[in-house]
Amino acid sequence: MSERMSSPKTAIIGGGIAGLSAAWFLKEAGHTPTVFEASDHWGGKMVSKRMEGCLLEGGPDSLLTEKPWALQLCRELGLAEELLPSNDAQRSFSILHNQRLHPFPAGCKLFIPQKVTPILTTPLLSPLGKARMLMEPFLKHRAPEGDESLADFTRRHFGQQTLDRLAGPLLGGIYGGDPEDMSMSATFPRLQGLEKKHGSLVKGMSSMMRDAQKRTKAGTAPSLFTSLKSGMQILPDTLAAKLDGYLRPQHLVKSILKTPSGWSVDGEEFDQLVIALPARQAAPLFSEVDKNLSRLLGQQQSSSSATLSLVFDRKDLKTLPTGFGFMSAHPLSSILVGCTWTGNKFQHRESKDRFVCRLFLGGPDSKTKILSGEDAELIDPALAALRKICPFIPEQPLAYWLQRWPNGNPGYQLGHLDWVKEIKTQANALGNLHFSGSSYGGVSVSDCVKQAQELT
Ligand SMILES: Cc1cc2nc3c(=O)[nH]c(=O)nc-3n(C[C@H](O)[C@H](O)[C@H](O)COP(=O)(O)OP(=O)(O)OC[C@H]3O[C@@H](n4cnc5c(N)ncnc54)[C@H](O)[C@@H]3O)c2cc1C
Repeated sequence: MSERMSSPKTAIIGGGIAGLSAAWFLKEAGHTPTVFEASDHWGGKMVSKRMEGCLLEGGPDSLLTEKPWALQLCRELGLAEELLPSNDAQRSFSILHNQRLHPFPAGCKLFIPQKVTPILTTPLLSPLGKARMLMEPFLKHRAPEGDESLADFTRRHFGQQTLDRLAGPLLGGIYGGDPEDMSMSATFPRLQGLEKKHGSLVKGMSSMMRDAQKRTKAGTAPSLFTSLKSGMQILPDTLAAKLDGYLRPQHLVKSILKTPSGWSVDGEEFDQLVIALPARQAAPLFSEVDKNLSRLLGQQQSSSSATLSLVFDRKDLKTLPTGFGFMSAHPLSSILVGCTWTGNKFQHRESKDRFVCRLFLGGPDSKTKILSGEDAELIDPALAALRKICPFIPEQPLAYWLQRWPNGNPGYQLGHLDWVKEIKTQANALGNLHFSGSSYGGVSVSDCVKQAQELT
């Protein structure tokens, strides 16, 4: 950001976590921010709700503990007491394959095996699939020039079954994307780094884990996920409260124009402009300013998903599940992509006599239903798919919350990093223009906070 202006007037478009945290850091750095948000809700996809005495999440339910930026921001905002570690005593999950749940093989770091016996004994892979996976350290792996998809990368190392039944559900699930299209260098560069250094991912991961063990020997390992006791929405709510006076809710920005000294946003003059919108929503705003940039932004693909939180009467459940939940193997056999047993993952989420599960819905068959269908078109098949594999789930929930995210998952397609570079080059050429948020430098809440911090 420009250092010449004393207190630059900075317009930020988008009041999700990307826009709010940008406003926070810029204000701290001496800017005068104004955040424009189309709706009356602050936090975009961060949205929490109470139902039947239970705390439900419509978007993100946690922060990945190993990405520290959002946690640091929480502490900075006085939310340290809110931090809630995941209940790692229950830290295990399953894969839904052939209508049955199978425990994810123990001893895997991500999907990379560190022990032989769990792979030999898992029913998730056929004998050939197991042999192919365990051969990885003994094979030569030649990385192609340039970017590669998650699917090709995994297949090269471990074969198709590992992709379909372990890596795809686990890593593809984070991005809600198709592993065949997902850019490895934009999504999991650390795995590419391991390949470069060690050749084999199995060898690279075990060396990385040895180093990590030495570092954590003195202390205890942190929890995998961290949530917030009052719900994820407390983070944007706190930011919004601290940014009082700098916020413009219910203002859908319709026009931006370049001026000789900066930018005009719906006719109001600013020195600088931060676009904290998903790229496809930003694209039409640039149609008058720079057609090429507008076209570039519009190139980002996206996928649609929905979360379905179901609240049951605990006494109607004959069995209680263990673990955090499950993900579905590829190719998906229904719209049920995954399920979290909410109260197992985080304490204090359910009231004493209630049981909550949260389903992730998506995949090719769900797109039109998420964009425009009736609620029942999503709820009925999802509940039927769940009950088929978990017959202890009652027929009817006491309450439900269906939260749709049409085109809500930005696609980190092959060549994503070059695409971001090109956008930055064009933004620099226009001057005093920045892009930040889930479409660009990482989809997690923490990645959005990190990008916001880097604006100062
Ligand atoms: C189901 C789901 C689960 C997830 N789980 C996790 C998780 O557990 N952990 C994690 O770290 N991440 C998770 N994510 C990802 C993370 O939640 C998002 O990537 C992140 O919240 C996106 O923030 P953002 O500010 O970039 O965009 P958004 O939250 O989409 O905010 C953009 C804002 O811009 C506004 N807007 C749009 N157009 C205009 C306009 N013209 N004028 C003014 N305002 C406009 C919108 O109303 C919106 O509020 C999940 C995402 C989803 C969908």
